[in-house]
Amino acid sequence: MKQAAVKAHAKINLTLDVTGKRPDGYHDVCMVMQSIGVHDVVTVSVGTGSGEISLHTVGSDLPSDNRNLAYRAAELFLKETGITCDGISITIEKHIPVAAGLAGGSTNAAAVLVLLDQLYDTQLSMEKRMEMGCKLGADVPFCIAGGTMLAEGIGEKLTKLPDAPQMHVVLCKPPFAVSTPAIYRAIDSAEIAVRPDTVAMLRAIEAGSAAEVSQYLCNVMQPITAELHPEVTQICDTMKANGALNAIMSGSGPSVFGLFDDRDKAERACAVLAKQYEETFLTDFSCAGQINL
Ligand code: ATP
Repeated sequence: MKQAAVKAHAKINLTLDVTGKRPDGYHDVCMVMQSIGVHDVVTVSVGTGSGEISLHTVGSDLPSDNRNLAYRAAELFLKETGITCDGISITIEKHIPVAAGLAGGSTNAAAVLVLLDQLYDTQLSMEKRMEMGCKLGADVPFCIAGGTMLAEGIGEKLTKLPDAPQMHVVLCKPPFAVSTPAIYRAIDSAEIAVRPDTVAMLRAIEAGSAAEVSQYLCNVMQPITAELHPEVTQICDTMKANGALNAIMSGSGPSVFGLFDDRDKAERACAVLAKQYEETFLTDFSCAGQINL
């Protein structure tokens, strides 16, 4: 039996724009994605002898069959490589809030692909890993690569950017889930009043300016989710009242993050929000997606 583990990082969106809808129902997006320190730990063992895929989650009651994206990643890996299953055991130690706009499922799936490639020594090219990732979900390719990236197409066309300037990140997930498909449906009939200035964000990252990266944070989904859940706006306001350079929602929400250039202020904001919201984290930007343990 062979075993390996990775830290599977969550992501936030520094920008998120929806630029069109395709005939197949997928949306064209343009977003600057950033890995953060908050992560799950994914451990995979191969050659367990069971002849089956088994999955176990610690810290969450996610399904352990093929409704779990990590399970589907293992199925896809076996199908695409033609390897006969000699028993694969997956354990996910869950820390990333679920259905939160943080790509929790996608990063677990990315971790399983990366670990199976290592354990079976299949030496998949980056292109092949990305192609397999895309079959599982539009955010999976980003989660394989990690760091700071521009994502276009349905999210799968990635351009590596310089690492964003390091800042303190306060992440807060209010206690309700948001359905990503429902928010996409709502955006189809919505008038988008404010869109991100992606070019300005790319310039800010290139220049390493924390103030400008903060200034250009923008997510077109925020007004839609915030109308359903006003707490999203309240959390942003609390972050800013406690010294955040800026604060927005990540993905389709409901997670909100604030960026801080001062550690003390970030700690204070985190303490204020943690009194009300259990899932509050003080974290930072991470330069990678899947880090071997
Ligand atoms: P994204 O930002 O990519 O839209 P998200 O952070 O909003 O993702 P997830 O945490 O990935 O959302 O969860 C979305 C749905 O996927 C949930 O309803 C959950 O039940 C399901 N799911 C399947 N597998 C997983 C997994 N391994 N981890 C988390 N959620 C999973």
